[in-house]
Amino acid sequence: MLTIGTHMSIAKGLAKTAENVVRMEANTMQIFSRNPRGSNFKVYTEEEVGKFQRIRKDHQFGALLAHAPYTMNLASGEERVYEFARTVIREDVARMDGLGIEYLVFHPGSHTGIGVERGIRNIIRGLDQAVTGEENITVLLETMTGKGTEIGAEFGHLKAIRDGAAHPERIGICLDTCHVFAAGYDIVNDLDGVISEFDRVLGLNLLKAVHLNDSMMPFGSHKDRHAVVGEGEIGLEALLRVLSHPVLKDLPFYLETPLDDQGHKAEIRMIREKLNGYC
Ligand code: FE
Ligand code: FE
Ligand code: ZN
Repeated sequence: MLTIGTHMSIAKGLAKTAENVVRMEANTMQIFSRNPRGSNFKVYTEEEVGKFQRIRKDHQFGALLAHAPYTMNLASGEERVYEFARTVIREDVARMDGLGIEYLVFHPGSHTGIGVERGIRNIIRGLDQAVTGEENITVLLETMTGKGTEIGAEFGHLKAIRDGAAHPERIGICLDTCHVFAAGYDIVNDLDGVISEFDRVLGLNLLKAVHLNDSMMPFGSHKDRHAVVGEGEIGLEALLRVLSHPVLKDLPFYLETPLDDQGHKAEIRMIREKLNGYC
């Protein structure tokens, strides 16, 4: 069975958000682990968490994904930026693990001039202070477009981060279809080739989740602009091949497309329909 959901706002609380997932006819979701721009997070009451867990269980949600804030840059060489990132990742690994959320994904970060190698060293150091090896949650590194000084546009970067970590067994990968396409991995004309490359560099067993997005920007542009599925440069056919690929089809898929809940509901319905006719 297809596991699919979208990025959801948790402004109205966890339980309400889970209800909205059901209404959307989805069976998973991605949420921000805290305010995406600031440093704030809500502390949920026991009642709220209980209700959330009940809905999730009753409706047999697939693996849930939390996304760390965009302002968190673990690769930074700037003291203040790095300290903030280090605190956020440590707190949010623990907080999301406490909620029984399966995965926490983060953007590896931008080295802003200190170079990829030193950036990666900073990321590893930050991860090692956050991941104890005792938790159930798996931290996912996201594949990036490579805009500016962004780390993670090459599978090799992610491999270096994971290999350097003290608890690599708690670290996996989230593949973003928009990002890899913009980074120059040709999932439109050579999906099998990209999958083999991923397997060769990282190992397919590390792939835990897919961000399913079309791309407004062309192949290899290193620009990060998500489009609605079927309305971008990747196109519907190529994304259906991703959804139905034998080594990908059982992974959870999370849409991060520019639509509201109503739009996402229609998008998911369209995907299910096309997929049925496709396989
Ligand atoms: Fe992301
Ligand atoms: Fe993404
Ligand atoms: Zn993106």
